[in-house]
Amino acid sequence: MSDLSRFLDSLEGCRVLGVNPPVMDFSFFDLWAKPLGLLFLLGLLRKRGNEVYLIDCIRDSAASDKKYGRRVTARREIPKPEAYRQIPRRFWHYGLDVEGLASRVRSLPRPDLILVTSVMTYWYKGVFWCIEQLKDLLPGVPVILGGIYPVLCPEHASLSGADEVQTVPLPLPSATPAMDLYGRLTFGVALSSTGCPRRCTYCASSLLWPEFRRRDLGRLVAEVDLQVDLGAEDLAFYDDALLAAKEDHFYPLCQGIIDRHPGLRLHAPNGLHVREIDRDCASMLHRAGFKTIRLSLEGIDEINLEAGGIKATSEEYRAAVSRLLGAGYRPDQVETYVLVGLPGQKASDIAETIRFVRSLGAKAKLAQYSPIPGTPLFREVLCRHPEVQHEPLLQNNTVYSPFVSGEITAEELQHLKDLANYPG
Ligand code: SF4
Repeated sequence: MSDLSRFLDSLEGCRVLGVNPPVMDFSFFDLWAKPLGLLFLLGLLRKRGNEVYLIDCIRDSAASDKKYGRRVTARREIPKPEAYRQIPRRFWHYGLDVEGLASRVRSLPRPDLILVTSVMTYWYKGVFWCIEQLKDLLPGVPVILGGIYPVLCPEHASLSGADEVQTVPLPLPSATPAMDLYGRLTFGVALSSTGCPRRCTYCASSLLWPEFRRRDLGRLVAEVDLQVDLGAEDLAFYDDALLAAKEDHFYPLCQGIIDRHPGLRLHAPNGLHVREIDRDCASMLHRAGFKTIRLSLEGIDEINLEAGGIKATSEEYRAAVSRLLGAGYRPDQVETYVLVGLPGQKASDIAETIRFVRSLGAKAKLAQYSPIPGTPLFREVLCRHPEVQHEPLLQNNTVYSPFVSGEITAEELQHLKDLANYPG
């Protein structure tokens, strides 16, 4: 395990470049993605007297606008890695290409240190590519790799080409995220708490944030103010448990946003805990201006209920939907995550959940299971598919169930997608 927090704490008077690498995958949808951990760290380093810069390979390559402040990321087709050779899908490089990255690097002063962040384990190809380019463009400048991937796959991340790798999760720095490095913002992001009080067996939240902690409300409101000043008309919450302890934290935060920024559109792309949605909560979500709400139902089949520690029963989900409709949401605005491809799950079980969601008028959003290293369910997966441990590409949610485990075939998956999406 490697922890560079002391070294980072000691930095002063340095020029630090933060880099969010491109993504290489079959698909990539911008759900208000920003490298928030990196932005917090850059904010802290600046507060300590360092000069900071940012290259966001995703945002800096945005090709066109989408609804609610999001952008379509530029992409180009690239050859599939060997592990994906049999997958009948096209493979893409999303974000800045060689020339785009070189031009961004040349537009900035030469840094003393580069911090490269990362997200999904199965996006490591984009991370490796980025580090290789940075090493060519800025020879002699040390590169540190951080983010989620090296915490979950420390051994694999040692192959990244970085000089150092942060394999221990860093606590959230006590600083304002350096959002101003973007210049103008089309959307902002907020994190009102870290971690989650629940322990679903497929989820990495507790590996990244061992405890559930709420952040200071005054600081949060100031962060929202800053992003609105920078032009954000939309704000996405990154919380894993946005509604936990809602009366003391979420409601006052919403009221602060209603008072200070009426008209700001809010989004909760991570699932909301169904049980927390009582009448007051549904009404607050609507009054505060939440335009995107996604409920974490995951499934009403036995395997799903067990893996999620019975996150929500059918009756609890039914009641939550009815409260949201009563608060003023249209049925199609009540989007609901349905988890597909858990070990042992059958396509017929998933179809039953989709039908149930649709019977209440809500919209099912399929989320394909991705085995995440370090989670209890990952250990179960390894008993049958040990190859998944050594090749993070096989942890890709697009690939795992239809092409690695085969538990849900590609045809069954398509049928489930059709069932979720057919109009009416
Ligand atoms: S409720 Fe959501 S965030 Fe919390 S442990 Fe379960 S999947 Fe993870």
